Amino acid sequence: MRDTLVLNASFEPLSTVSLRRAVVLVLREKAVVEQSHPGLRVRAANVELPVPQVIRLCRYVRVPFRQRAPWSRRGVLIRDRHRCAYCGRRATTVDHIVPRSRGGEDTWLNTVAACSADNHRKADRTPVQAGMRLLSKPFEPTPGDALVLALGMRDGESLPEWLPMPASA
Ligand SMILES: [Zn+2]
Repeated sequence: MRDTLVLNASFEPLSTVSLRRAVVLVLREKAVVEQSHPGLRVRAANVELPVPQVIRLCRYVRVPFRQRAPWSRRGVLIRDRHRCAYCGRRATTVDHIVPRSRGGEDTWLNTVAACSADNHRKADRTPVQAGMRLLSKPFEPTPGDALVLALGMRDGESLPEWLPMPASA
């Protein structure tokens, strides 16, 4: 699927996002379509939109998009879609893979979303010491992810999965 270029309100290119995210930004009136694919349209509930190639944010956003997304607990939960890295159930806490007491830092690669039961069970140990396996590897959010975070969108839960996308886009 083709990505959509995101411009700041000042027309400065910021990042690219997936078509799905681009459409959500437009539907939420966070962005307007500046350029669209000729003839391609996307339908969402009662709304029909041209498939956006370029969108522009309605409000100027100051975010270091070209740098790394700043780490935050909320960001880790969003990145992991509120799913526990150890059991896949709903996560409300952030676990340090290498515990802070052992020098583990607040970084994207050292933290995962975890349910409170697993976080408590793992306690002050590494996953190996605790005999717990990570279901997926933590990763650095992309600039597109950083954009979603910066706009205060709750990713994952709020992205409408029902949004039908044209096969040719
Ligand atoms: Zn869990």
